Amino acid sequence: MWKAIEQMKVCMQEILGGPVLLALKNPTKGDFEKAICGNGWPVTDPRLEDPCLQPQGVEAGVERMVLRATLSMGIAGFPRKSRWFCPVALDLARREERWVVVGWEWEEIPPWIHMKGNTWASDRFTVVLPERMAPTERSLGRMAGRIASWLNEALESLAERLPPEIQRPRYLAVWVPQAWLYAEMAGARPTSPAATVFALRHIREGGEIVGCASSEPIIFLNRQLILRRSRRGRVEVARHELVHASLARWNVPWRPIWLSEGVAALYAGERLWRELAGKDALAIRSLAKHAMKAVFVDPFTPRQALLEMAACSALAEFARERYGEGRLLSLYKAFSAVPAEVVRRHAGDRFTWARAEQIVRETAPALLQRHLGVREEEFLDAFVNWVLSRLSGARRKRPAGR
Ligand SMILES: [Zn+2]
Repeated sequence: MWKAIEQMKVCMQEILGGPVLLALKNPTKGDFEKAICGNGWPVTDPRLEDPCLQPQGVEAGVERMVLRATLSMGIAGFPRKSRWFCPVALDLARREERWVVVGWEWEEIPPWIHMKGNTWASDRFTVVLPERMAPTERSLGRMAGRIASWLNEALESLAERLPPEIQRPRYLAVWVPQAWLYAEMAGARPTSPAATVFALRHIREGGEIVGCASSEPIIFLNRQLILRRSRRGRVEVARHELVHASLARWNVPWRPIWLSEGVAALYAGERLWRELAGKDALAIRSLAKHAMKAVFVDPFTPRQALLEMAACSALAEFARERYGEGRLLSLYKAFSAVPAEVVRRHAGDRFTWARAEQIVRETAPALLQRHLGVREEEFLDAFVNWVLSRLSGARRKRPAGR
């Protein structure tokens, strides 16, 4: 660990051509140490990558500079090429002849900073639990073994459904005990969903975001919500998240939700489209249009979120049935290849969900045309007809209703 800190200092010295004083305030310095030592997680081979200096000019008589770099590390038990990435930006000021670090910021905070963990591993899973929940070998084995049994059952049921080239050799799952901690670690709302996959980092050029690269995925499990479910419900959550984790290498924030959530629901076998029962053509069309433009499911109204998920699930089922799985997946992947100049134009130096939607609006129609060979309006018309006939078919099969 100290070697890595020394490495970072040396690296900065080389870049700055002079001695750098690490004038870091206490908590942040502790955080930095935790980031590099893993805080109980089996972090291996930390490296500092892609350092880039951006002069900021002179502010109140002091010369300023920003150093961006990415801390990258492996996790024991994963293939060597599996890396987790945490971009960091340091603010530097020149004090007399020295460059001094006056502040810094993690763009994506290494999750092990937030939670000291103990690790348990099986054939396909590495499970991290908070140290205080599983302090002994025995308690760790018992709890992690239970979590891994849901994950295993989910993975086995995915084995025939998910194309083999998409499956990963090993998955990392983290059991997060408190809702607030879950929100901090996963960047998700504490009250839903029950689990989240996190696997993103931004690619920058000259300070501007021009794309995304995937880190290895981490599946965060929200203990409070998961324990409220039956065993079957827990396996369902695990299955959905394992699909997200498997597709994580194509993760970008600018993918319409009908693809990100719809494809996850499709492979997880969720058939959420049945929730659209009772909706007329106009309502279905409007939900579908939204799912094709938005990048986020409504986080505030559960009923609306369910309908949006239903539309996503229906769109993905429809697209696979009508155009085939290969074309659906090639459309899914195409969003991660949106050109850097489009991303730069909308994203700028900070990224927001509204900006992600702008990218979707600009690129989705052409991608739909290229990969499915259909215009948006035609696609929507055919989709609405498909849903209505599917729903009436389902009604006929179940005369007593749901
Ligand atoms: Zn999802």
